Amino acid sequence: MTILDELLSAEEFRGLSPAEFFYRNREIAGFSNPVRALYQTVRELVENSLDATELYRILPDIHVRISYVSREKNIVKVSVRDNGIGIPLKEVPNVFGKVFYGSKYKLRQSRGVFGLGIKMAVLYAQMTTGSPVLVRTASPKSKNVHEFQILIDITRNEPIVVSYKTMNNTRGWHGTHVELTLEGNWSSARSRIVEYIKRTALIAPYASISFEGPGIELSFPRATKKIPVPPSVGKPHPRGVDIELLKQLIAYVNSSNQAVTLEDFLVKVFDGVGRKTARSFLKWAGYGPAISIDELSIEQLDDLARKMKGYGKWRRPRPLSLSPLGEELLVKGVRKILKPEFVTAITRKPSSYGGYPFVVEVAIAWGGDIPSVDRPLLLRFANKIPLLYDEGVDVSRKVIDGIDWSVYKIKFPAPLAIITHLCSTKIPFKGVGKEAIADVPEVERELEIALRETARRLKRHISRIERQYEVKLRYITINKYIGEIARALSVITGKESKVFEKKLSEIVEQKVLKGGGRGNESL
Ligand code: ADP
Ligand code: MG
Repeated sequence: MTILDELLSAEEFRGLSPAEFFYRNREIAGFSNPVRALYQTVRELVENSLDATELYRILPDIHVRISYVSREKNIVKVSVRDNGIGIPLKEVPNVFGKVFYGSKYKLRQSRGVFGLGIKMAVLYAQMTTGSPVLVRTASPKSKNVHEFQILIDITRNEPIVVSYKTMNNTRGWHGTHVELTLEGNWSSARSRIVEYIKRTALIAPYASISFEGPGIELSFPRATKKIPVPPSVGKPHPRGVDIELLKQLIAYVNSSNQAVTLEDFLVKVFDGVGRKTARSFLKWAGYGPAISIDELSIEQLDDLARKMKGYGKWRRPRPLSLSPLGEELLVKGVRKILKPEFVTAITRKPSSYGGYPFVVEVAIAWGGDIPSVDRPLLLRFANKIPLLYDEGVDVSRKVIDGIDWSVYKIKFPAPLAIITHLCSTKIPFKGVGKEAIADVPEVERELEIALRETARRLKRHISRIERQYEVKLRYITINKYIGEIARALSVITGKESKVFEKKLSEIVEQKVLKGGGRGNESL
């Protein structure tokens, strides 16, 4: 036997479970070190809580708490409690103990998408402290509160229920409380976490959020009871298909009905495809409308998918599956957190890229509590999630840096903050870290239009302020001479100078202040 034969025969083959994959590659989901992992844990829990409330029109009440278990060893306990819809009893173990298990695999805007987040936090807690996740949950009208402790069997990607008990839900509570004990560096993560909570409060002004950490307590009461209309579940757009999706959709349709024609299939399954559109497309693509979808060969499916992608006359994807904040709420959120002198916001009309609908929202805030900075302070959001890392490679930064701000009367350092929010059923993130958005041309264009419009409004505001300032300055300057002129007039006329002073003051006030800065030439 050669050495190679020996090595080969000793080689063992086996599969890798999703849990094991993410356990080994946790950094790609943001769990790279005790600083980042603590931040990411808070983020995953808070985002689940917000999804569990606002998607169901519940005004969110969220409490976040971080406390030391051991300061020397950097062991912390993170708990998040919400008043959401809770988790059905039979789903709890998988939701917390099985990677890629969730309720958000739908074409609809939500914070979570992959069914991964909470499991990453559970895995990280488990590997750093060995402790299970504690979950307490009750659905609305549920007579019981369920409490679980769960670990993950990493090699099998299955939950291990360590303990379970049930209690009477005497107070009619509904929601979810999750608690994790993990290695986390609070002192280094503190500023990021605080920033994250603040920005979350900005983008969800209808939420009440409280935060408690070692040495810090924050509370953001809701600024409004208005909540954006929750997104409905959308259908796929024909431009976004590939052969695999076609196969899945055909299998899905076949399971409920027999002998579906190609035309019926297109109309039934896809977004914005009516009879007329379906027929025009099929004619263009060279398929008869009456072909049964079962008869299509793999080659034909491949051809069909290609043609669906390439057809230029589909209607735009409908934005019903999106839930932007809207101008009014965005302004409220910005006022609440940044306390600026001036703020304006724009929600652009829906647009699309590659078959996915999206909406861009932009707000510009100026002055007040905003510090003067050398370049615009940027606050980025995607599907109502604050993005705090990788700003340098984000499309918003690129668009902002491409604008000549002096055109809008802005000279740096200036107290300028820009808020960008992209809503989509598929955010074009750069990489799996979900922190920076790629520069898709359609998104870039919408961002620029919105930015320039808000900047124009800011320019008008700045001009107005400048005019008022000039007027005040002129008023002060002219006032300085009133005494002298009054005395001179008194000498000439022999009348008391006080009389002239009073009269002159009245004239100046009338002409300069009330006359809006014009007309003082006639003095
Ligand atoms: P994702 O959020 O991407 O779906 P997660 O692993 O974070 O993935 O969560 C998995 C599922 O658990 C969610 O889809 C949701 O159904 C459920 N879930 C998690 N946290 C909560 C919560 N606080 N309230 C209600 N349901 C929750
Ligand atoms: Mg999640």
